[in-house]
Amino acid sequence: MKLLISTALLLAAATAAQAQYPDKPITVVVPFAAGGPTDKVARDLGEVLRKQLNQSVIIENVGGAGGTLGAAKVAKATPDGYTVLLHHIGMATSPALYRKLPYDTLTDFEYLGMINEVPMTLIGRSTLPANNFAELRKWIDANKGKINLANAGLGAASHLCGLLFQQAVAVDMTTVPYKGTAPAMTDLLGGQVDLMCDQTTNTSQQIESGKVKAFGVTTGKRLNTPALAKLPTLDESGLKGFNVAIWHGMYAPKGTPKTVIDKLNTALRAALKDPEFIKREEALGAVVITDARLSGAEHKRFVEAEINKWGPAIKAAGQYAD
Ligand code: ASP
Repeated sequence: MKLLISTALLLAAATAAQAQYPDKPITVVVPFAAGGPTDKVARDLGEVLRKQLNQSVIIENVGGAGGTLGAAKVAKATPDGYTVLLHHIGMATSPALYRKLPYDTLTDFEYLGMINEVPMTLIGRSTLPANNFAELRKWIDANKGKINLANAGLGAASHLCGLLFQQAVAVDMTTVPYKGTAPAMTDLLGGQVDLMCDQTTNTSQQIESGKVKAFGVTTGKRLNTPALAKLPTLDESGLKGFNVAIWHGMYAPKGTPKTVIDKLNTALRAALKDPEFIKREEALGAVVITDARLSGAEHKRFVEAEINKWGPAIKAAGQYAD
């Protein structure tokens, strides 16, 4: 009898806590360094979510190991809706790269919905003696064995794009991993590394101001933003079929109560309709999600399809981490 009463009390307390959610700040874990593209979308979105949820949103950067450290932190967090993850395509590429991934991408998370899709650009240090893709290709062929390619670690979008690029030009480069593409960009600006693939949301400004050289857009079509309209695609420059866009989504630890998930999904859907947020994203070449992938179920189906899409190409490259 006593046990029944205390179970009932616990249940009542849990229901009350869910009804009041959120009554304290929510931490959004970004699995890359501050100032990079994933961090930028999290901070912009966090601003809008704060208004939607009437609660503070704290961004915590947990960079390292291509985003897998941050994802692992959220997979193991208390499933109460106060710790969530904002991650990109790395959710789908890391299962093929890590032999001992400390979480299961499809079963250890609740899927909260997707945010945006973002093209990438291939950029280089401003001192490179190449001004377009054809010249870059010649420079690459003349410098085999000496080229450094920066990325945000195995499993990052910059890693995937760099991997596909090396396969496309059939030249192996020395990859230099960072905790995110913000610190990688600092080194590219300083000329310590030669090349990098990164989201337009992080590269547009640097391209426009001439601080880095741009060699191509990674998606099938040219972009129509002021910074990138004249930049050819890698496909039209000769890397036929080169097409990679990255996407971001939000996740909660498995077991987060349904009422909390529904509140987060409703807030996310509303935030993605915010005109200021949409304007900022579009100005940098990103597209805010408006389709069925705003639902957790479709988001999960998409991630599963992405795992199946990229896994074989990554495995063929034979790059693994333990
Ligand atoms: N998006 C970057 C990448 O995967 C990492 C970052 O956001 O800093 O390369």
